[in-house]
Amino acid sequence: MSSTAIITGITGQDGAYLSRFLLEKGYKVIGIVRSYTSSDVRGLRLLGIQDKVELVECDLTDLSQVISVIGSTRPTEVYNLAAQSSVALSFKQPIGTINFNIISVLNLLEAIRLIKADTKFYQASSSEIFGGTNQLPITEQSAINPISPYSISKASAYWITKNYREAYHIFSCSGFLFNHESYLRSENFFIKKIIRESIRIQRGVANQLEVGNIDIKRDFGWAPKYVEAMYLMLQRSEPEDYVICSNTSVSLRSIIEYVFTKLKISMECLKVRSDFYRPTEIPDIYGSNSKARQELNWQYDLSFFDVLDILIEEELEYVKKQQL
Ligand code: NAP
Repeated sequence: MSSTAIITGITGQDGAYLSRFLLEKGYKVIGIVRSYTSSDVRGLRLLGIQDKVELVECDLTDLSQVISVIGSTRPTEVYNLAAQSSVALSFKQPIGTINFNIISVLNLLEAIRLIKADTKFYQASSSEIFGGTNQLPITEQSAINPISPYSISKASAYWITKNYREAYHIFSCSGFLFNHESYLRSENFFIKKIIRESIRIQRGVANQLEVGNIDIKRDFGWAPKYVEAMYLMLQRSEPEDYVICSNTSVSLRSIIEYVFTKLKISMECLKVRSDFYRPTEIPDIYGSNSKARQELNWQYDLSFFDVLDILIEEELEYVKKQQL
């Protein structure tokens, strides 16, 4: 009998790539969506898997609905990717972000506990929970110090996931993923915005790229490889948490310089706006993936500039198709 995976947040970047990865492994994939009618399945369609996954409508903040879905499908694995995932937006919508990102996790774990389902649970945690640390690289032992509503919600969700593992012996674990990008990333995220806007400047459709603080450094990776680590975490005999990252950070400024050079755009088209700065910001953060490499046998060797080459090509391809 094939394994069944439930993926919450299936319409997001990681949901689409994880679905494709699990389908290739022979899983039945069930995706939770907030609404059949308004869900954006563009990512699933672009990967050619829209008709291969089953979509189920469920409000993850309603325990009775979550119990009903877990009880009727009895999944082998649940990948909890649904979240208000933007740090910037979390400062504008702190209550909604904290409410959804915590209650949804609690409901899923509570449903697994109450039903006594033999289900493994993956929680999409984030490097952001380590926040304002000056001890780099981030490892699984680093102190948690969230500095945004988003990271506060993800830190709480991490503690809930750990608590259900320790108190109820549920196979539940968190992946502390650093930023990872792809063509499917939404446009409100930095890398996607930089590439889209730069191509618009190159085509003469826009004049300037407006950005906030670009003298910060981040550890960026390639999303299709990062979702493999989620699967590997649930194949272990014991649940544990893992840092998933590229091991190095690059400055946002150097990324813009790289994209501008590649697209032959003058740096004069760059405008830094201090009113775009966030109330709090981590100056530099990168992690160590050595535990994941050793215990999960997860391999990652891409430089982020290699990833940028792929992303630029994919975006240019998209623009070309739109013009046809
Ligand atoms: P994403 O593209 O923003 O997708 C988020 C998903 O969550 C979408 O399917 C969205 O559904 C769903 N969602 C958001 N708010 C919801 C709500 N109130 N009710 C129900 N569903 C809701 O995120 P991603 O990049 O794939 O990331 C996946 C997970 O990993 C997220 O939890 C994110 O916080 C975490 N993470 C991501 C990164 C990264 O660099 N990508 C790094 C660390 C951690 P709709 O389509 O209906 O909006």
